Order: sequence, then C-alpha cells, then structure tokens
Amino acid sequence: LQEDLEVLRDEPAITLDGHRIPLWVNTGLLTDALRSLDRGAEGVGLYRTEVPFMMQDRFPSESEQQKIYRQQLEMFAPAPVTMRTLDIGGDKSLTYFPINEANPFLGWRGIRVTLDHPEIFLVQVRAMLKASEGLNNLRIMLPMISSVHEVDEALHLIYRAHAEVIEEGCDVDMPQVGVMIEVPSAVFQIRDLGLRVDFLSVGSNDLTQYLLAVDRNNPRVADLYQAFHPAVLSALKIIAEAAHEVGKPVSVCGELAGNPLGSVLLMAMGYDMLSMNATNLPKVKSVIRGINLEWAQRLLDQVMQIESAHVIAAMVQLALEKEG
Ligand code: PEP
Ligand code: MG
Repeated sequence: LQEDLEVLRDEPAITLDGHRIPLWVNTGLLTDALRSLDRGAEGVGLYRTEVPFMMQDRFPSESEQQKIYRQQLEMFAPAPVTMRTLDIGGDKSLTYFPINEANPFLGWRGIRVTLDHPEIFLVQVRAMLKASEGLNNLRIMLPMISSVHEVDEALHLIYRAHAEVIEEGCDVDMPQVGVMIEVPSAVFQIRDLGLRVDFLSVGSNDLTQYLLAVDRNNPRVADLYQAFHPAVLSALKIIAEAAHEVGKPVSVCGELAGNPLGSVLLMAMGYDMLSMNATNLPKVKSVIRGINLEWAQRLLDQVMQIESAHVIAAMVQLALEKEG
C-alpha cells in the first residue's frame, strides 16, 4: 500500500469521471512542510503562524518572522502558501502573552486579539509581504471572523502594510486575502464576506465546535462533537453554494477535509480545494481517484436526508467499501 501511495504522489486527485480537486496541506512546523512535499501537496491551504510563535519566549521580531515565512514560501514556490494571521487565544496560548478568561473559546481569540493590537498584526503582515518578494506565492487568511467590520479593518491594515513595504523599496504584489469561515455568524454572511475578499476557507474544527456548542478538546463531551452532524453538513453545503453565488473559491482546511469520508462529501458539495494534514493526503487522493463525482453527489443527496451523524458516517463508509 505504501508503494501505491508513493506512486500516487505525482498523480492528480481526479475522479474516474474527470473531476479534479486540488489537495493542499496544513503546516506549522518545518517538518510538516518537508513531509508535505514528499506527499505531493499542491499548495499550503493553512500555515498556522502561531506555531512558530509558540516555540519562542517572546514575540519574534519582524526580521525573525520574515526569515521563518520566507522558508515556507520558498519551499513551496511557485505553489501558493496560505498564511493565517496569528490565531492565539482559545486553546492556543503564548507564555509571554497570557490571556486568562472564564470562556477562552468565546473570548479574545484570533482576529479579535490582533485588531486590538494592530502593531502585532502590522509587523506580521509586513514580515509576510517582505518574505514573499520575488516569489509572489503568498496568500493571507484571517481567522475567527464573525463580522464584516473585522474584515474591513484587517484589509485596511493589510493595505497599509503593503504601502509601507513598497515605500521601503520592496517589490511585492498585493497578496490574495481570504477569510476563515469558522464562526456560525459567518455562515450567514458569506455573500458580504465573499464580496470583500479573494477566497473563503472553512475551519470545520471550530465551526463544528461553535455550531454544536461542544468544546473541541473536552473529552467529557467528545461524543457530542460530531463532524457528520446533519447541522454541520447543512452549514457546509450552504457555505459552498453561497460562495459560488458570489463567484469566490471556497475550500475546507479543518480536519474533515483530511477524513476520506468527509472529503468525498465535501467534493460532492462543490468545494474547490481541500487542505489537510500531509499524513491524510495520500489516502484522500486514492479514495477520490476511485470514485465518480456523480456517484458522490447522489450519495450526498441521500446523506442529507439522514438525521444521525453515526448513520451518516456508517453509510458513507459502507458506500465507499462497496465502490471498492
Ligand atoms: C479549524 O478551526 O478548523 C481550523 C482549521 O483552524 P484551527 O484548527 O487551527 O483552529
Ligand atoms: Mg479554527
């Protein structure tokens, strides 16, 4: 099997009836990036910039960040690298920037922190832009967006950072900017969000947690954290349709995208790209290469009628086994 997966590395993820879906990877550590190239990733759909921040004992300086980002961008160039701006708070904390709250997942997280600290945001975006000089494969993604105002404010800062680095003699294009859809309010604002940015990407881990009001890390309620919950699947379907109505590409970068069963349903919903852990990529690719898109769409239609997450997962599993 390992041999088969290696052979697959340079083959596209394409269904038997010719539908091609790009498979990208999620990275954080340098080792993730190395493994990704091994497995034939076509781009980086989510580079979690908080990972290098978590490995330091103070905020990395602009030039330190620039070096780290340059490495990522160079490794994948000319393939695109989607850098998410700092997503701390919730379960991700920095020892040198403690946040103590009763409800961290509902508190000061992601974009909320960086818009309150534009100096952190600006330094980070400037470092990303400078790192992309001569490569121009950078995409910037905003985490935990819950309203259009946050996007407007963030875009304003990104334009400012771009103007600053140009002023300093750096020759870089304005990167594509995208928004993560991971808060339920964003699901109902796809149109207005989509009109402001170049792409959308669903953070299904947080979206599931917030839709179901189930802490994604609490073992006591782990049974209730259901990636195939009918409400989660409905939300995912609504997002894909709404994004395409405003002509914007939409992907998924949460764990569901790297789950072979999930990947089949997401492809059937029309998602334009899936981004996952490098470990899952070969398996997802081999599943996609073994099915027809039309078959997956019929399966999705059936699945959307079912009321139980367990039955849905079992049904998809069975269908895939039958299909070979
Ligand atoms: C997500 O929420 O699905 C996601 C991709 O981001 P993270 O897991 O880093 O919160
Ligand atoms: Mg998230």
